[in-house]
Amino acid sequence: MEKTLRGVGVSHGVAIGQVRHMGTAVLEPPATQIPTEDAPREQARAQAAVEAVAADLNARGNLAGGEAQAVLEAQALMAQDPELMADVARRIAVGSSAERGVYDAFAAYRALLASAGDYLAGRVADLDDVRNRIVARLLGVPMPGVPDSDEPYVLFARDLAPADTALLDPTLVLGFVTEEGGPTSHSAILARAMGVPAVVALPGAAGVPEGTVVAVDGSSGDVLVEPSQDKQDELRRIAAERKAALAASSGPGQTSDGHRVPLLANVGGPADLPAALKAGAEGVGLFRTEFLFLDDSAKAPTEEKQVEAYRKVLEAFPEGRVVVRALDAGADKPLDFLTPADEPNPALGVRGLRTLLEHPEVMQTQLRALAKAAEGLPVHLEVMAPMVADRKDARDFADACREAGLNAKYGAMVEIPSAALRARSILQEVEFLSLGTNDLAQYTFAADRQVGALARLQDPWQPALLDLVAFSAEAAQATGKSCGVCGEAASDPLLAVVLTGLGVTSLSMGAASIPYVRSTLAKYTLAQCRRAAEAARAADSAEGARAAAQQVLSGE
Ligand code: PEP
Ligand code: MG
Repeated sequence: MEKTLRGVGVSHGVAIGQVRHMGTAVLEPPATQIPTEDAPREQARAQAAVEAVAADLNARGNLAGGEAQAVLEAQALMAQDPELMADVARRIAVGSSAERGVYDAFAAYRALLASAGDYLAGRVADLDDVRNRIVARLLGVPMPGVPDSDEPYVLFARDLAPADTALLDPTLVLGFVTEEGGPTSHSAILARAMGVPAVVALPGAAGVPEGTVVAVDGSSGDVLVEPSQDKQDELRRIAAERKAALAASSGPGQTSDGHRVPLLANVGGPADLPAALKAGAEGVGLFRTEFLFLDDSAKAPTEEKQVEAYRKVLEAFPEGRVVVRALDAGADKPLDFLTPADEPNPALGVRGLRTLLEHPEVMQTQLRALAKAAEGLPVHLEVMAPMVADRKDARDFADACREAGLNAKYGAMVEIPSAALRARSILQEVEFLSLGTNDLAQYTFAADRQVGALARLQDPWQPALLDLVAFSAEAAQATGKSCGVCGEAASDPLLAVVLTGLGVTSLSMGAASIPYVRSTLAKYTLAQCRRAAEAARAADSAEGARAAAQQVLSGE
């Protein structure tokens, strides 16, 4: 029966498809004793599960071809290893269930591999994956990790970490729904980067059965479970009409009376460039360089590898502005070789610029790579530091840029309330500010951005957050410098109008949001934007601010 669940819409558009759950880590099966007479049945179950997993791995290998095929076939062989299977059978004979027998036999084999030198130790992750697949099959729960599907699907997950999402096939994911995560979580950011609709903070997402057809409305936050065919057709028609209208909007970002507000793209690397160019981005307002570092969290990418990736992004906007953020590691983006493992409070610990100042060699390599990447290009390179707290932080970053011989503008992200409150003093050291409203909301409201239950406090319409935006923009204006927004707040079309009214000078967002923001901004004069901003700041709640701005703009 059709029913509607409500979460927070974070990436526009409508996705209709079958639910596939992101499998959670395999639970340890209980170590209960089974009666001896059950042993043959359990052995048959274990054998059947192993054969099914091996067949599935081989079939995937055939489809994938190349290097992936060799890896998958090796995994299929591991699953059927005769010694391992004999150990499973022995364990079942003395009272283990099929799943427990598999779990324990693999654990023993794993310990052997892990102690057998580099090459074999490197196979431990593959072995774990095989074990997880067999145990999940025996327990009748979804396979761990990214869903195994050859058909497009709507991904349901508790939350998504950047490391999970690296494995997603963007051609198969129609949309996202997560139980946790606020509007600024990585699930939301990724969905916008991929241009797929998404709803986060949806209570009950885990309870929607695998394979159910859902319609996800990324604007309203509604998820329709088992919508009727008529409803599906209607939603598809509305989404197509809206998309066509937006595709027709083009040109630079500006108000109806010609006040220019460059619309820039947030990118994670060269793979995001085609979408940014297609959406008509006027440059890059936030290049999240940490994605380059996530491939191998044990060490930094070489200077050459970094030069190559940076150059590709710079070349995509030959005459445009490209704002590169220095590595923002720590907290929700930990890197093994940089992030302390034992911090009691990682979001308040050594992260962002603090990490870079503790590892100057990593910062210097990155800044040098940027300098080399920009050599000979007419691009306007700007480099900014994440998590700047005060003037000393800003000065240390500017000094590091000078030391690397970087010919670029240096800037500071405003993500900590102290930076917004003392923006003028920070601007004594750097040439521009960029508001990271995701973290700024997190720290202003002491509300972890990864916790869905706190979505109300991470709402960027909160008047306290608007005040901090206004302080920063005013400081920039007073010193003749620029102050953009690169947090997710910029991707909300109505809020983009308010931010413009608060004095923000550029807006940077996931490429898919650019047409929405461009067409909304073009409807209003700068004076209207300012009145909407004033009304929003005068409200006492996020809903009040949204309603007040809407009222001003609709002329009621
Ligand atoms: C922010 O905090 O608003 C921001 C842009 O950085 P990130 O989301 O990558 O932390
Ligand atoms: Mg941030």
